[in-house]
This record gives sequence, structure tokens and C-alpha cells, in this order.
Amino acid sequence: MNMKIKINENYKNLKKSYLFSEIAKRVKAYSEENPSAKIIRLGIGDVTLPLTRSVTEAMTKAVAEMGERETFHGYAPDNGYDFLREAISRHYKRFGVDIPVEEISVSDGAKSDVGNITELFGDNPVLIPDPVYPVYYDSNVMSGRRISFIRADETNGFLPMPEGLSGEGYIIYLCSPNNPTGAVYDHASLKRWVDFAVSTGSLILYDSAYEAYIHGNFPHTIYEIEGARACAIEICSFSKTAGFTGTRCSWTVVPSELSAGGMSLREMWERRQATKFNGVPYVVQRGAEAALSDTGYAECMELVGYYMKNAALIAGVLREKGIFFTGGTSSPYIWMRCPSGMDSWSFFDSLLHGIQVVGTPGAGFGECGEGYFRLTSFGSREATEEAVARLRGFLQ
Ligand code: PLP
Repeated sequence: MNMKIKINENYKNLKKSYLFSEIAKRVKAYSEENPSAKIIRLGIGDVTLPLTRSVTEAMTKAVAEMGERETFHGYAPDNGYDFLREAISRHYKRFGVDIPVEEISVSDGAKSDVGNITELFGDNPVLIPDPVYPVYYDSNVMSGRRISFIRADETNGFLPMPEGLSGEGYIIYLCSPNNPTGAVYDHASLKRWVDFAVSTGSLILYDSAYEAYIHGNFPHTIYEIEGARACAIEICSFSKTAGFTGTRCSWTVVPSELSAGGMSLREMWERRQATKFNGVPYVVQRGAEAALSDTGYAECMELVGYYMKNAALIAGVLREKGIFFTGGTSSPYIWMRCPSGMDSWSFFDSLLHGIQVVGTPGAGFGECGEGYFRLTSFGSREATEEAVARLRGFLQ
């Protein structure tokens, strides 16, 4: 039936999201033709190790509390329980940064917050890196925004910079360490973005979902950069730090300094969440709190260390073969140039058919991703070692 309601026409402008479905389709077709093939998946963006002991113990205790009348919890506070907001505030002190508890809102995922925060803004020009996590682009298309891409390629080390941009009042998305390229901004380059944002009255939306993977002297949070409180909102997640992809917990920091059009962005975000979101479950927030305790955080670093060892194995074989790549040292992702000038999907097919290894074609993350390929370190050690051995035999 053709209904009489009007729809959000912007949805017609979304590109068909075919990356992961196309991968699944090609892998399925291959396995049907080759039922005995042992396929190794290095394409997944999801963690595989279980929750840590501190987290499960805290959650088990919280479940028991939920079963007693005296300690039962109903709706959680809109912005999260203070125990978790305080733990997050203390976490920032690990990086020498002071974030007041009131500026932290707990949520059920960085994806939700990245998508929902667009509601706070009017018709601003939006700058989105290419390639990048596709949610930034799609959520802005849904709200009919004017989007420009900032190119990330080999000439800038996959780290676009603001020089050459004119205009003002931008909404700027930055993701560091980056998905999919694994590139990470250093303090000096992030400072150039902060200075640009301050001088043009722009807002940076900083996605630090992979900060736990940083190795070496790179900013874990944009608030390590002087001036960032005047221009940046930060969104971070327990997903990749603590294995919460299926447990769901994240946070967003909106500094009290941020205001536009006579409105405080923090008050707007709190209002948005209070109106449309009913909080993260008590049990999950107790688990998240435990992940940030000293013991819990050390356990998270073990998870990260496991994945990073996988990344080092993959990086090792690419180095041996002289293949250009970024990432793999401060990121679970390795972004490699496809050999022999192949395009992303041809390389995908050649790996699948040649050695039964599945990765993610870079073209799926944006135009600049064509000719590149993403491998992830989220598999098991055994599978990664086997994939690396196959790559060693296959790559020239
Ligand atoms: N931000 C980036 C850059 C990501 O790659 C992902 C997930 O892959 C997310 C956010 C989503 O995080 P969450 O699981 O907290 O929704």
C-alpha cells in the first residue's frame, strides 16, 4: 500500500551499504564451491576474546543485586550512574587530563552517540575524512547535511590536515587511531586541527574508540591538546578497550565551554539523551566501572596486547614482502596497499581464491580507499599465524 505520509527524502541519498553483505556473498559462493576449504577471516571489526575477570565478577555481583528487593535498580540515570562517570573521569587522569564528572554522559555505544549527536546541529558544512568509519557519512546524509571529504592518502600519511581549508563553522569528524587506516595523529598535528577549529568557530567530533591501542607518545584524548575544550566533543567506547561490542557501553564528553546560538551544547546533549534514551543497564555500568579499575584496566591491556601481537605478525609479513601499509602499531587495523596495482575487490578475490583469507576491501570505506585493503588483528592467534603463513607463501 502506498501510504500518504511524507518520508525523510534524505534516506534516498544513502548509498547502498553493500560492503559486508558483498563480502558475505562472495565468501558463501566460494565455500559452496569448495566445501572443504578452511577460510580464515581477517576482515572482522569485532573482538573475539571474552570479557575479563574483573568485568564478569562485577557483572555477576550486579546481577545478584538486581535479584534482591533492597538492591534492585530500575531506570538508570540519563547520563549514567555517578560511580561510572567518576571512574571515567579518573581514567582521563591516566593521560593527565581533568574532565569533570558533569561533562561525561554514559551511553550504549559510540555508534549511537556518533549518529545521534548530529541532531544538535543545524545546516553546517561537514568535513569527513575519506576513508573512514562509514557512520559519520551516513548519519549526515540522513539529516541532509552538506558534506565535504578531507582526503587521507599516502601523501599525508592517511592523516588529513586543515591547511588549505577556507570557511568557518564546520563540523569536523576526526578518528584517531583511525578505522580503517590505523593512522594516528600526534600532538602537533592534532594541535593544528584544534587551532583551526578555534579560529574558524568549528566543532571537532573526536572519535577515540581505539585509544587503548595507542603505543608510544600519541594523544589518547583530544583534551591533551591545549584549546580542545573550546572546540571538541569526544566520543569513546568500551567496545574495543574491554571487549564490550556485545555488552554495549560508551561515553561522550561535552565540555561546559561549548556553546553556539546561545545554547550550551552540554545542556542540549543532556536534554537529547533524557528525551530519547533511557540509560545503560546497571549491570553493564558495573562491568564498565570494573574495566577501568587498576586491575580491570591491566586486564584490558592484556586483551589489547594479545590483538597487537597478532597485528605485529601481520605487519611482519608485509614488511618482509616490501608491501606498503599503515597501522598495526597503535591500532588493531592494518591498511595495506594492494600488490601489483590491483583494485581492492580484485585483491579480495585473489586472496579468497588463492589462500582462503578474507579481508576488507578498502574501497568500501570511501573513494580514497580504492587500491587498499584492511586486515584486522581481532582473530585468534592460531588463525592469524596460519593466515600469515599463507600470506608469506602467496605474496610476491
Ligand atoms: N567508532 C569507530 C571508529 C568504530 O570503528 C566503531 C566500531 O567498529 C565504533 C565507533 C562503534 O563503537 P560501539 O561499539 O561503541 O558502538
